[in-house]
Amino acid sequence: MKTPICCLDLEGVLVPEIWIKVSEKTKIRELRLTTRDIPDYDALMKRRLKILRQHKIRLRDIEHVISKIEPLSGARRFLDKLRAETQVVILSDTYYEFAMPLMKKLGYPSLFCNWLSTDPAGFIANYHLRQPNGKQKAVIGLKRIGFCVHAAGDSYNDIAMLKAADKAVLFNPPPHIVKEFPQFKIAKNYKELLKALG
Ligand SMILES: [Mg+2]
Repeated sequence: MKTPICCLDLEGVLVPEIWIKVSEKTKIRELRLTTRDIPDYDALMKRRLKILRQHKIRLRDIEHVISKIEPLSGARRFLDKLRAETQVVILSDTYYEFAMPLMKKLGYPSLFCNWLSTDPAGFIANYHLRQPNGKQKAVIGLKRIGFCVHAAGDSYNDIAMLKAADKAVLFNPPPHIVKEFPQFKIAKNYKELLKALG
């Protein structure tokens, strides 16, 4: 029998959407833009970085904002329980620089994501993807080294990961995702998610 491992999305599953929280806390509405508004991820990120520069917001300012964000209610307890039962890897499209304050609050689980570079003035100069389709490739890689992958996510950027997994669950997905992908199980709270991933 293969060893199970759980792959979890971060934003929307364990923590709030980081850019939306940053938008609320900085009061810059334009930072709420998501891939639903600008489907091209590169164009969206370039736009976000330009907005930050225009408002003179450096990486350390964003890190300060993010340090005030709390994981979703019950997330830490859920994750601790899951990690006591099985290996867990968080697969995210966010950046280590953004996620680390939240990882501290979640007990430093394993996190595979991307990173940012800054210019000498401390502004975010660019973003760097470890590889394209990182979530899906991580699942394929884990299967190749003998794991049986159970995955959970909440949105479009998780679909390739969920399709590649042996067991897939949508956590609190928006109604249009449920309609579009009826093949996936749905969990509405952490109790259901723990059961569905088991
Ligand atoms: Mg998400």
